[in-house]
Amino acid sequence: MSHNYDVILNGCGPVGGIASLLLATRGFKVAVIDLNKSPYPHPRAVGLNGYSMSIIETVLKDSWKEFQFTSAVEVGYVMGITKMDKPFGKMEPPIIEGKVLDLDKYGFLNWFNQPQLEKLLRIQIKKNKNITTYFGTESLVLWEEKSRNCLQIQNTVSGKTETITSKYLIGADGGGSFVRKQMGANLKTLGKAISFLVADIEAPASSLKEGMHFDAGGWQIIDPSGKRPTTFINMTGKKHGTYKNNFRFEFALKDGENFTQMQSPDSIEKLVEPFLRKSSFKILRSTVYKFNSMISEMWRANNTFTIGDATHQTSPFLGQGLNLGIRNTFNLIKKIDLVNKGVSEASILDKYQVECFPDSQFIIKQSLFMGNMLFNVKPHINFLRSIIYFFKGARGSPIDLFPAFVPETITVPNGFKPGKTNQKGYPMYNFMTKEGFPRSLREYKPFEYRVLCNNSSVEIDKVLKNIDKAIKPLCIVLSEGLNGEKTSDDILVCAPRKEDKKMHRKLFNKADYVLMAPGYTMLGTYNNGEEDKLFADYKSLFDLVAH
Ligand SMILES: Cc1cc2nc3c(=O)[nH]c(=O)nc-3n(C[C@H](O)[C@H](O)[C@H](O)COP(=O)(O)OP(=O)(O)OC[C@H]3O[C@@H](n4cnc5c(N)ncnc54)[C@H](O)[C@@H]3O)c2cc1C
Repeated sequence: MSHNYDVILNGCGPVGGIASLLLATRGFKVAVIDLNKSPYPHPRAVGLNGYSMSIIETVLKDSWKEFQFTSAVEVGYVMGITKMDKPFGKMEPPIIEGKVLDLDKYGFLNWFNQPQLEKLLRIQIKKNKNITTYFGTESLVLWEEKSRNCLQIQNTVSGKTETITSKYLIGADGGGSFVRKQMGANLKTLGKAISFLVADIEAPASSLKEGMHFDAGGWQIIDPSGKRPTTFINMTGKKHGTYKNNFRFEFALKDGENFTQMQSPDSIEKLVEPFLRKSSFKILRSTVYKFNSMISEMWRANNTFTIGDATHQTSPFLGQGLNLGIRNTFNLIKKIDLVNKGVSEASILDKYQVECFPDSQFIIKQSLFMGNMLFNVKPHINFLRSIIYFFKGARGSPIDLFPAFVPETITVPNGFKPGKTNQKGYPMYNFMTKEGFPRSLREYKPFEYRVLCNNSSVEIDKVLKNIDKAIKPLCIVLSEGLNGEKTSDDILVCAPRKEDKKMHRKLFNKADYVLMAPGYTMLGTYNNGEEDKLFADYKSLFDLVAH
């Protein structure tokens, strides 16, 4: 007799692990399969944004306190290792009222250790009664029969095969996805693949060489003459963070170089030595990666889906691969849940790709653009960069790259017109918490549909009162704070700098409501008196079952 589940997840990397826990807590019976008995040990993701952190906090439950992370407070673009203190471009969160934006919780970018995250996820998975694990198991054949997905799997040690079935099957099986191939989905290439030597080094911050007294952050080193662009990350915060004594190096490999020789401990030591004192570091793990920029053209085939790297792979220059995976997975799981609850028609499942594709493609391209800043060493680009360096870096006034790193708000094909509102307004909006800490609005309950209300939610609350609670959006009042308002459970007061107040006006641009999808997608803006239109537009997103 075959085992039957609500959902089978093929792959238990970080995205599959998170998906299984999100589904299990919504009552689904889940099977999780992974080729490997233990998490993948190689150096991979190091940076998570606030959105991902909030989902991880939710699913890790009691293991959250063990999860180590340190928020980055600076990321610089520098011309070479001798000019580390003179970045020509810098991304650092603003300091508002003497406090770094978002640093009281999780920052805009948080360093972490992917193998540790995967280990903690597996601990929660093992504890969850709704999840059955098949670790050390390979998926062999996938087919659909009588509206069910059937999967033949094989234990890699005993060789025993069995077939399991489910209503939904999700491929979370990484870049080489078995499920994506079985669905017949094509991968669209968005940019050239590049090879890097990636090394994780254990060392205290005190081993940094003279002149490198950095706080937790990252540096993209152009190296126009040596042609070895390098990413260098210090995970130890001077006064904050729990993930310590780790450095990440990513060295570009040149065509014709012997990749295996480059990976020898001697070669890595030579590459790391300009940064760290030799006697005080240890190579923890290293590997060579080819960074792809690809997106699948088909994310759903009936009740079979792909998530995470199985759907999109991006170069790491914005540190967004896993972040994208987590954000899009949450979108899909919410939709599966609504169909299961009888709230939405199955047609809503098509909107997973419709809603997430534009944002994902944009980020992959944005990451390529940032990579090009690092990689392009053509003479005219070098010349342009030296001019910027001369006027900006050398004079201690680097270009502010923070806006390039915060995901832009975009509209989706089934979204509504964002009216006159400036679409870039949303991500940079900062408010003060009740406790007086500056926070970015993009990290405020980003996994909810939200109606941002300009000064009052009275009228929209009346209209939304009767909506099914499964799809009820979060209504939150944003105030410019002109009358001394203070942040409370129902109102967020924008931060006091003139840039923040300006952003409030830019965000609404005379509108009274901004409707946001989870993540950073703006669906439309509305004025007072248009509450019924907002309600109708909003409901149309959910393909509601007619009663
Ligand atoms: C050097 C580097 C740096 C990165 N930095 C960042 C960063 O800073 N921030 C960020 O957000 N992202 C980053 N990424 C990307 C991030 O690591 C990936 O996006 C993430 O690991 C994808 O997770 P996933 O669960 O989708 O896939 P994976 O982690 O690849 O997991 C897939 C799982 O499926 C299993 N599997 C595969 N085939 C089968 C099969 N046939 N049957 C059963 N199981 C199978 C595998 O064993 C594996 O456990 C980086 C990646 C690299 C390489």
